[in-house]
Amino acid sequence: MANAAEWKKGWRRGARWCPSPNFGPRPAGTDVSLAILHSISLPPGVYGGDAIERLFTNRLDWDAHPYFQQIRGMQVSSHFLIRRDGELVQFVSCDDRAWHAGVSSWCGRDNCNDYSIGIELEGLEGEAFEAPQYKALAQLLRAIAKRWPIRAVVGHEHVAPGRKIDPGPGFDWAALQAALRWPAVSFPPIA
Ligand SMILES: [Zn+2]
Repeated sequence: MANAAEWKKGWRRGARWCPSPNFGPRPAGTDVSLAILHSISLPPGVYGGDAIERLFTNRLDWDAHPYFQQIRGMQVSSHFLIRRDGELVQFVSCDDRAWHAGVSSWCGRDNCNDYSIGIELEGLEGEAFEAPQYKALAQLLRAIAKRWPIRAVVGHEHVAPGRKIDPGPGFDWAALQAALRWPAVSFPPIA
């Protein structure tokens, strides 16, 4: 499938589009060169349901669960979410800047949101991820790398060390590298 058919103004065809208001323009002339992996579940450790989509679209009922008090009022987003069954959901065009990394730095370059694409995996730090998620992730990263000059894929924990721990030790970086066959320099150091 040609690039033009895979993307429409930064939106991935075949993904379920769930537009978020939480985004802004990337700085002019930005090279989108980094993919950042996250894990998320709401409440933590509970899979399924629509709380993540509600959070990213500012429609979460903060009173629906005690945990939501801790994140009350947060306005965040990512470009993508990959659910446990491998379903791909997109919230923000990859041409725009999503709000997923916060204070962050990669290879001496700050503000990773400016130049990265954020991918949330439904999961919990320390727990394993599902085979359909790895399959969907590898497919997505291949398509992204054909369209934008991606140089590396790393975890939130690598661009915000000491502050963030996702996707965590349950994520199999070696499996992702084997699936993509990208050079080792494209991945964080594998323990
Ligand atoms: Zn994260």
